[in-house]
Amino acid sequence: MKNARDTFDILFENGRIGWIDRDGQQPSLSSSFQRIHEEWKERSDDELESFVLGLQAGMPVAAGGVARSPEARTEGGEKVYLSVRRERDPKLRDDAVALHGLDCMACGFNFGRMYGAFGEGFIEVHHVVPLAEAGKSLTDPVTDLNVLCANCHRMAHRQRGVCLTLDELKAHLRSGTPS
Ligand SMILES: [Zn+2]
Ligand SMILES: [Zn+2]
Repeated sequence: MKNARDTFDILFENGRIGWIDRDGQQPSLSSSFQRIHEEWKERSDDELESFVLGLQAGMPVAAGGVARSPEARTEGGEKVYLSVRRERDPKLRDDAVALHGLDCMACGFNFGRMYGAFGEGFIEVHHVVPLAEAGKSLTDPVTDLNVLCANCHRMAHRQRGVCLTLDELKAHLRSGTPS
């Protein structure tokens, strides 16, 4: 549902930015999305609400041809969400890597060791306090940034609105059963 909202933000003057591509531009909508927008923009909020509630309840919805068609789900485009972008200040990234190294601070994974020269130097930088919470604030790379492999970084952000601490992440790691 949130993805859908981000995709359609370009059509509304609601102050939200939604999806942007790597150049910071809002991509234009695919023709199927545009068709859905055209079809729905004249309808009442009540109609929209009952449609959405129907979807939520997993019920088959009869809503004038707006079915859940596979073509309405676009994936794999050059989409980078704004909050993820903000985490990548190049200077802070360099500082974090210089301080914390290239091994994942949760699981120890090292991209260079696993992928050879191709993976050398790769690691993701994670804000201990999400920027959205911290607002515009100074970031101290010693205390405010972690370096995490892509898997651990995803796990840290897995629950919406929750950001796991390094200790929480490690505790979950240990609870798994490595083969
Ligand atoms: Zn890791
Ligand atoms: Zn993060």
